[in-house]
Amino acid sequence: MHSKASGDIETIGRAVLAYAEGRLKLDPVPLDNPLTPTELLGRVGQTITPEGITGKTAFDLFTDVLAPACLSVDHPRFLSFIPCAPTPAAAMFDLVVGASSVYAGSWLEGSGAVFAENQALRWIADLVGLPAAAGGNFVPGGTIGNLSALVAARHTARANATGSRPYRVAATFGAHSSVRSACEVMDAELVGVPLDADLRLTGPALRKVLEDNGPETFFAVVATAGTTNLGIVDDLASVAEVCRELGIWFHVDGAYGGAGLAAPSVRGLFDGVEHCDSFIVDPHKWLFAPFDCCALLYRDPELARAAHTQHAAYLDVLNDSGAWNPTDYSIGLTRRARGLPFWFSLAMHGTNAYTEAIERTLTVSRFAAEEIRRRPELELVRDPDLSVVGFRRLGWGPDDYQEWSDRLLHEEFAFVVPTKHEGEVLTRFAIVNPMTSEDDITAILDTMV
Ligand SMILES: *Cc1c(COP(=O)(O)O)cnc(C)c1O
Repeated sequence: MHSKASGDIETIGRAVLAYAEGRLKLDPVPLDNPLTPTELLGRVGQTITPEGITGKTAFDLFTDVLAPACLSVDHPRFLSFIPCAPTPAAAMFDLVVGASSVYAGSWLEGSGAVFAENQALRWIADLVGLPAAAGGNFVPGGTIGNLSALVAARHTARANATGSRPYRVAATFGAHSSVRSACEVMDAELVGVPLDADLRLTGPALRKVLEDNGPETFFAVVATAGTTNLGIVDDLASVAEVCRELGIWFHVDGAYGGAGLAAPSVRGLFDGVEHCDSFIVDPHKWLFAPFDCCALLYRDPELARAAHTQHAAYLDVLNDSGAWNPTDYSIGLTRRARGLPFWFSLAMHGTNAYTEAIERTLTVSRFAAEEIRRRPELELVRDPDLSVVGFRRLGWGPDDYQEWSDRLLHEEFAFVVPTKHEGEVLTRFAIVNPMTSEDDITAILDTMV
């Protein structure tokens, strides 16, 4: 099975590399369509057998049936949820990470990989404005990033608490679902803060909620820098001030929107982010890295290490070394060097290229907002802060949106799903792919006339 015979490696290697190269050159990529379990079983059959079905058969099944039954998240008209549009460099480097058998949980085992990941993290830390001592690691996604940061926050608050143990988190009703799920995992109470007229979390509303409930009962405040549904950036400066004054951990969830820090045209919206105690951004969203990759940063990583280091007889050799072990800063022990595809692409292209690509998506988003404003049958929910554009088709009900969305996908024309805002069904474009053009936007809006 582990045959190093050059023939075996060459055969599978050639097939895999040719596929990867071909897939990355497709222009446009097919949007594709999901199949049902019955359809897939009919076309693929049973693949797991005692003798194996050979690499060629399995690979052909993947390329001919399985892959086309997966939507291409990098399709320029995939505008649902938050898409993912890796650079070819990042996607290809993911193959290298897989082939290299690197364990990136400890410095002892993965120093080279961890060093490179840390340089990429430092670029983000500088964008945020965190001090030189800041650090963290790359975790699978914003969900684990938020959970890990909140665990560190709680550990810190409880170590410092003089009275009862803090058990609450304050966040807005617009905060990401993963914040609620983190609170459930932690058996913490999530206290909702009302939004201001512009749908943002602000210092005064936060202060009222904290004071009404007793600030000493809270271990963290979560602000969102780019909500997933509408791309709204909370008023980070006034929130930071309240957190500092009341001594509560300030976590900023920039899973989607954090990439905007690299775009001068929107950087001002993030003022105050530099005061955060922890921060996340998903390079697999708006920073052109493949799944799955979330950058998690702490102002003072020692606080996270105290909360997250796992102790076991066989791990003491790592823990006692005093070296930088990425696994100490998040939930999870074993870790893939998942920051390396992002690092490679960032190193290759340079940070200016990232700024340009992010600004390009912002330009297309502003075009979309203009176009929606111009068309009498459409209405913007709100001027976009970033690159999510929420809008309604006047006269449409929930079924109209769903039928329209189903039809666009069925025709492999575009993937745009309905969403809800304040109870109303409408729709949105999430634009993080620099290949999404003004023409794509116009073509989709034309289907709503
Ligand atoms: C996507 C998102 C998350 C969750 O990130 P995953 O990578 O999907 O786990 C958290 N917060 C915000 C604001 C997001 O947009």
